[in-house]
Amino acid sequence: MALSKKIRSVRFVLAFWYSLIVLIAFTLFGGSVYLYLQHQLDKELEQNLVEEVDWIYRLIQVNSEGMIPSDVVPSLSQDAEQRIIEHFNTAPQNYIVLLTSTEGTILYKSGTNGQQFLLETNIPSDKTLLQSLQNSANGSLRVAARRVGPLIIQVAYSEDPTHSVMSHLLAIFGVIVPVVLFVAFSAGWLMSGMILRPISTISTMANRITAQNLSERIPARDVDDELGTLIHTMNGMIARLQASFEEMKQFSMNVAHELKTPLTILKGESELALNKSLAPQEAEDLATTYLEETVRMSRIVDDLLTLAKADAGQLTIAHDEIRIDELIQELYEDTVILSLKKNIAVELTGNQSATVLGDRSRLRQLFRALIMNAVHYTEPGGTIRIACSCTTSTVAVAIQDTGIGIPEESLPKIFQRFYRVDQARSRVSGGSGLGLSIAKWIVESHNGAIAVQSSVGKGSTFTVTLPLLRSHSSK
Ligand code: ADP
Repeated sequence: MALSKKIRSVRFVLAFWYSLIVLIAFTLFGGSVYLYLQHQLDKELEQNLVEEVDWIYRLIQVNSEGMIPSDVVPSLSQDAEQRIIEHFNTAPQNYIVLLTSTEGTILYKSGTNGQQFLLETNIPSDKTLLQSLQNSANGSLRVAARRVGPLIIQVAYSEDPTHSVMSHLLAIFGVIVPVVLFVAFSAGWLMSGMILRPISTISTMANRITAQNLSERIPARDVDDELGTLIHTMNGMIARLQASFEEMKQFSMNVAHELKTPLTILKGESELALNKSLAPQEAEDLATTYLEETVRMSRIVDDLLTLAKADAGQLTIAHDEIRIDELIQELYEDTVILSLKKNIAVELTGNQSATVLGDRSRLRQLFRALIMNAVHYTEPGGTIRIACSCTTSTVAVAIQDTGIGIPEESLPKIFQRFYRVDQARSRVSGGSGLGLSIAKWIVESHNGAIAVQSSVGKGSTFTVTLPLLRSHSSK
């Protein structure tokens, strides 16, 4: 098991591929040397044989002084024979020279070789024939032959020396290959170890970084290479982790703080109630406070639960066909009643008919949260305008108020959890600081977008844009 893991390790794989490439390169080189050498040796042998045949051919010419004319079979002159013997005595050993008549009568043969013909094929007269042949007495022979009138010249040389050189070369390769393999694998192993060393340094450093010291970073490399990019990526990841840890810490502190306030009120009121006997009116006031704080706490817990489930992907969004104009009409009517108490005018400035794909109760929750905020943050005598309009692909719902407005620096933060521009005012209005976070989640889960424009003292406009399924304006 441990061995198979080692074999699959990056270091082993790198060393393996390195040695394989070296082996292939060496085999190609060795093969080329082998073939080239064999070709050269063959060529040299053939050249020598052809030259020897040509030499005899020039020495003995039909009807020249090298031949003794005869009616039946020509024979070799004494002088010619002497010169051939002398010539081949000085030439390297292993030459076999055979001069015969075309009928097979031996005119001259070197050594004790009793053969009549080396080659039995038709020997041409216009060129020298080259062939290889296996001979039981002499082994593998390379033969050059040429016919000159009634005479056949054959010169052969053993191929064994060439074969022996080649097999020696093969034997040398056979010894060198394992050595090359061993050296290549060791070099590959060392090199891959050197390459991978910075990675193990990085992982040791990365291991040291825990939730307690997320501000630490892996030291950057001087070289701008792949490892540098890896370090940069990991540092980026640690920075993102640090940011989300910070966010989580802040979030937990916010939750604790939000719940602590109503709990402190409940505790104080309870202690007061226990220490003295209460008049009926006091008991009623106390019960009202209990109820208010409990409602506030359960609203916070409900909102938190919604966001937690949304984060975990546990909330499913329905994809029903929803008439946005009808939904806006209902909400408008509710808001008119709701705003009466606060003396705020509500206007529906436009309500184009449009259908979107979505979740009716979630969309209702979204627009209600925006309208409730508009009511909360608008002073008596103000106005809220609601408008629904379509483009070819989207429907936009704008909720505009003439309320207190949002300072510019707070605009990017208002969708963050628990963010409130004015802590005291929001709390008095019963807000948890989670309404816009939930609104943003609902919009995004409908593939839409939410935007805000605001000016302090003048009012705010929240615009929700959703993908349009169908517009009914032409009907
Ligand atoms: P809250 O429950 O406190 O209203 P929200 O998430 O709904 O929380 O809103 C976050 C903050 O954004 C609010 O506390 C308020 O300061 C600001 N805000 C939201 N809507 C408006 C608005 N229509 N006018 C002015 N300020 C607003």
